[in-house]
Amino acid sequence: MKRILITGGAGFIGSHLCERLLKEGNDVICLDNYFTGSKKNIAHLMDNPYFELVRHDITQPYYAEVDQIYNLACPASPVHYQYNPIKTTKTSVMGSINLLGLAKRINARILQASTSEVYGDPEIHPQTEDYWGNVNPIGIRSCYDEGKRCAETLFMDYHTQNNVAIKIVRIFNTYGPNMHPNDGRVVSNFIVQALKGEDITLFGDGLQTRSFQYVDDLLEGMIRMMNSRKEFIGPVNVGNPNEFTILELAQKVIELTNSNSKIIHLPLPKDDPTQRQPNISLAKMELNDWEPKIQLNEGLLRTISYFDNLLSIKPTH
Ligand code: NAD
Ligand code: UDP
Ligand code: UDP
Repeated sequence: MKRILITGGAGFIGSHLCERLLKEGNDVICLDNYFTGSKKNIAHLMDNPYFELVRHDITQPYYAEVDQIYNLACPASPVHYQYNPIKTTKTSVMGSINLLGLAKRINARILQASTSEVYGDPEIHPQTEDYWGNVNPIGIRSCYDEGKRCAETLFMDYHTQNNVAIKIVRIFNTYGPNMHPNDGRVVSNFIVQALKGEDITLFGDGLQTRSFQYVDDLLEGMIRMMNSRKEFIGPVNVGNPNEFTILELAQKVIELTNSNSKIIHLPLPKDDPTQRQPNISLAKMELNDWEPKIQLNEGLLRTISYFDNLLSIKPTH
């Protein structure tokens, strides 16, 4: 049994990680400030004596004794990370400093949930880990992209300067149950719109691409990375290389939900990356042949079923 701290544990990915690591017999501390996460995501774990929930903001110092830290705290949807961009940068930068300080003091292993956004609007395709990226430092996405890039810098420097055992995972677009219905990211938006019979909001011409990974595949990759040989610190891409246009995604969601919704076109947000696809050779080689198992149709059906249930439950307050 390991004692594991998960920051951002009440969020979409964090809540799945809490559940899985508890199931595997660990002692889990879930830390969150509930900015985009929700107690509802982890309510079913509250009776487990090995689960502890802490309200805390990682921009402030935090003290605990654990063996491993997964640093997931950071709003991930453009709508939410752009709401208070200064706070978003603080969360990635000051938050990483505090958690790296903690990891250094208690000699814990620490994994950073980095992102494919470090590649910006990439000029090489698919993206390999040695690509330095094409990021606007002063645009509307910069608070997130540059915050995550600086967090990677801090992780590397705590490793070289203070010998902290780090792991960096660059996560590509991930979806699944427990996404907030108002999360604002494309998969949850389209599914909720289709189930409600509302217009599907396609930004731009819809020919921009993303590669969508189901959350269970990400968890497997992240946990393998955390427990991989000490010398392998990453960064490593974890994503599903199957690439789709956003228009194709909209059509797929309409088909799978059997919806009457119509597609409408809204302006493309500034700096929206035109293409994104992970090269996962490094993950396959280092993480014991890891590769995604759940393809888009199957993952969408599971996610549609989650939102269908959620939307049919009448709010109690
Ligand atoms: P999410 O918004 O559902 O979860 C983020 C969680 O962090 C929320 O529970 C939120 O309340 C919490 N949080 C935010 N700021 C905090 C702070 N200052 N202190 C404490 N808690 C704070 O998003 P998610 O999709 O679950 O993303 C989790 C992590 O994975 C993020 O770091 C994100 O950048 C990274 N990531 C996600 C994706 C994806 O496609 N889902 C892709 C790349 C990277
Ligand atoms: N820190 C923390 N918990 C700990 C140890 C440190 O939150 O258990 C914070 C500490 O407040 C500091 C940051 O982590 O702001 C960086 O710590 P480090 O030891 O690297 O730097 P220093 O304390 O020397 O500034
Ligand atoms: N998008 C869209 N309609 C929406 C939300 C997003 O067409 O309602 C587009 C968005 O412009 C982007 C893609 O879908 O091209 C993925 O957006 P998301 O916010 O999910 O992730 P990110 O852009 O951070 O990869």
